[in-house]
Amino acid sequence: MSVSSPAVLGIAVPSPLRRLFDYRPAGAPPEGGWQPGLRVRVPFGPRRVVGVVVECRDDSDLPLARLKPIEDRLDDAPLPADWLWLCRFTARYYQHAPGDTLHQALPALLRQGRALEARTRERWRVTEAGAGEMPESLGRAPRQAELLTMLRQHPHGMLAQAILAQSFTRPQLQALERKGLVARREEPRTGPADAGGPLLAEPVLPLNREQATALAALHEGLDAYHPCLLHGVTGSGKTEVYLQLIEAVVGRGRQALVLVPEIGLTPQTLARFKRRFRVPVVALHSGLTDHERLDAWEAAASGRAPIVIGTRSAIFTPLAAPGAIIVDEEHDGSFKQQEGLRYHARDLAVARAHHHGIPLVLGSATPSLETLHRAQSGDYRHLRLTQRASRHAPARLELVDLRGRTRRGGLIPPVLEAVEETLAAGHQVLVFINRRGFAPTLSCHACGWLAECDHCDARLTLHRQPPLLACHHCDQRRALPDACPDCGSADLRPLGSGTERTEETLAERFPDVPVHRIDRDSTRRRDALEQTLTEVRRGEPCLLVGTQMLAKGHHLPHVTLVVVVNADAGLYASDFRALEHSAQLLEQVAGRAGRAAHPGRVLVQTMHADDPHLRLLSARGYDALAEQLLEERRVAALPPFRFLALLRLEGAQEAAVTELGGRAAEALREHLKARELDVDCLGPVPAPMERRQNRYHLQLMLGAGKRSRLHEAGAWLAAWLEAEPAARRVRWSLDIDPQTLA
Ligand code: ADP
Ligand code: ZN
Ligand code: ZN
Repeated sequence: MSVSSPAVLGIAVPSPLRRLFDYRPAGAPPEGGWQPGLRVRVPFGPRRVVGVVVECRDDSDLPLARLKPIEDRLDDAPLPADWLWLCRFTARYYQHAPGDTLHQALPALLRQGRALEARTRERWRVTEAGAGEMPESLGRAPRQAELLTMLRQHPHGMLAQAILAQSFTRPQLQALERKGLVARREEPRTGPADAGGPLLAEPVLPLNREQATALAALHEGLDAYHPCLLHGVTGSGKTEVYLQLIEAVVGRGRQALVLVPEIGLTPQTLARFKRRFRVPVVALHSGLTDHERLDAWEAAASGRAPIVIGTRSAIFTPLAAPGAIIVDEEHDGSFKQQEGLRYHARDLAVARAHHHGIPLVLGSATPSLETLHRAQSGDYRHLRLTQRASRHAPARLELVDLRGRTRRGGLIPPVLEAVEETLAAGHQVLVFINRRGFAPTLSCHACGWLAECDHCDARLTLHRQPPLLACHHCDQRRALPDACPDCGSADLRPLGSGTERTEETLAERFPDVPVHRIDRDSTRRRDALEQTLTEVRRGEPCLLVGTQMLAKGHHLPHVTLVVVVNADAGLYASDFRALEHSAQLLEQVAGRAGRAAHPGRVLVQTMHADDPHLRLLSARGYDALAEQLLEERRVAALPPFRFLALLRLEGAQEAAVTELGGRAAEALREHLKARELDVDCLGPVPAPMERRQNRYHLQLMLGAGKRSRLHEAGAWLAAWLEAEPAARRVRWSLDIDPQTLA
């Protein structure tokens, strides 16, 4: 077989430009010939950069003689093909520069040109001779004898580090090695390959009927793309189903990739997976050092790690033998990257599972409307778990009307009394502060009036600079009223403020009870959250005050009262997804209460106790509200019934941004008309916070009933902007399937 030797290498280099750069191959080709996935060093402008070969061709848009040769080839074998496929898919789908996409999807050390190799560690174990009778020669070397005795107690051997930590020395080890009594071996740091033997380190839980049905459904399709929504209330045993699916996948020599939300990958979660299996489980999250990340990547790429668990970016982990992808809490916002390469890891998981032809599990107690819609329309199999393993029904939300009540630290007297009673009964209380929706609307504190648009079914957004109310759907603008148009009260306030002093107030009112504050500030130290939670799990009465971080994943069996300080900021933000996200959050918070022997209560304070959405959520739960929201989205032609893309423009000069936005919109509209593309283009309109860090923000929204049309329009728009000189002075980005319109 002749090894291909192309004339041109199309290379992805780190650049914001949406194209490959052509170079000539130079130096000896690798054994397998030039192939996509090989890293090279190339001259790029004044710099030398690491790039990845993406195409091997014989032609170029430039004359071949003008192409520069590559400087260096860094790999003998290409980077994993599944990884390269996903990167190319991602760049295409999100209309992002291929070079930047590949670079973001690589561990830093590979980006810098390091070899794809795992670091090793040293393991020592006794040989057959060493396991026999204690040799007499060791009578004069008591430390060596002790060392040998210790190693004999570890049939799987001991790591050098652990041996030296027992104050044995390297010369002692080497002396035993020379006598043939012990042997050393290098192994990857992420753990040795599976040595065979039983897969499980602990027995599985016998499944209840619903779990068994779900697992059986998943078992049906282990060799095919088989997308499922595992829709189960908090505590219904979704994780146990994942674990048993993974057992089947790994048992067939395949790998499982598990994605969890950023705040979901706690040491607790990881421990649960590690406890179950005897094979290596590698974790990929933001806390890893560059070396640890490369080790984990290598373990996954080589297939040595059968189980890979990680946050958003772990979707780009190569797998030697992909067997299943699981996305836990699939509705979680952290799966969407909100800057640069704006990918959604859940959606990429769908594409990847489809490409590999393997099962996909999207798990949630509160599925996103996108996923729910696809389950209802038959694209995904809809598997339900309605029973909690502990057999306690999840707590209902009780709405507490805030109108006209005096608050202390955001809490009204009957709620404070409920807190007091709960603590007196020896239980724990969780006080949840909803910080979402920081660009809130304006509301009357006396009667609950909300600033609404006259032309749209939407709330006006409060702008601070300059102060005004604006609708982001039709661009209506209004001056701030001096008084409430309904009741005349001058007490108008932005929704969502005034909760900061909650912790202080509670500490004053309940001086004998510890108050734990859990938010990003108080848990910046890596293990601070775990420490607090360990203390809380001991079960002494206490108050937990926290934000989103408390809403997910943590089992808090002694909490029997949950208080939501203010449900409203999220309910009335101008973003069309705000209500969905708010409801998910409330339901997740409610899921914390009453997990153990005591039934829970969830008190939700609101200025809008008669809001129909909130009442539906409270009376019939998330699923019923989701039905209603889906119907509303259908009528309004919003996702998941329509596909959106958002062009964001920002710059220091308002005039330059406005001018470019206007021209881009005009050019796009002309193109759409000429091509008869069924895509609409709304705007340009100012972004919800139009001035941020003294920069002016503008946006243009594209909507289409067909995804392919939207992509065609998006690609055209990106190309237009890249070719437009004025666009160099303005920062712009395209967000496909935006999660927020901010
Ligand atoms: P979820 O992931 O849906 O929130 P988990 O899998 O964490 O639920 O299960 C909640 C609790 O119920 C855990 O303590 C788990 O050990 C327990 N559990 C799950 N399935 C079973 C089962 N079949 N039998 C007994 N206990 C179970
Ligand atoms: Zn009023
Ligand atoms: Zn409007």
